[in-house]
Amino acid sequence: MGYAKECKIIRRCGGCGKKMVFECAGKFRVNANGRRLDVWLIYRCQRCGRTWNVPLFERISPEKLPAGQYEGFLDNDQELVRQYAGDRGFFKGKGYELAKG
Ligand SMILES: [Zn+2]
Repeated sequence: MGYAKECKIIRRCGGCGKKMVFECAGKFRVNANGRRLDVWLIYRCQRCGRTWNVPLFERISPEKLPAGQYEGFLDNDQELVRQYAGDRGFFKGKGYELAKG
């Protein structure tokens, strides 16, 4: 089974000073704070490259993450990146504006 196409997000870019299209940078960022993790998927402006971290999990304990994903986040597993970046429902649920196409 293939993955859905990567979602692109329209949002205001601080570098460009206007709304721009952001594309997935193909990386996660993980921040451990004691027993809690924050996980982001990194997006970047298509024009100036300014990055924007999309929160995936906030203050979650590692054992509550979906099985096997913790290592994938640390390793920037590309299948996992595609899985999250292609999840239109996730982005819509967060209220982000999706670019067409
Ligand atoms: Zn920009």
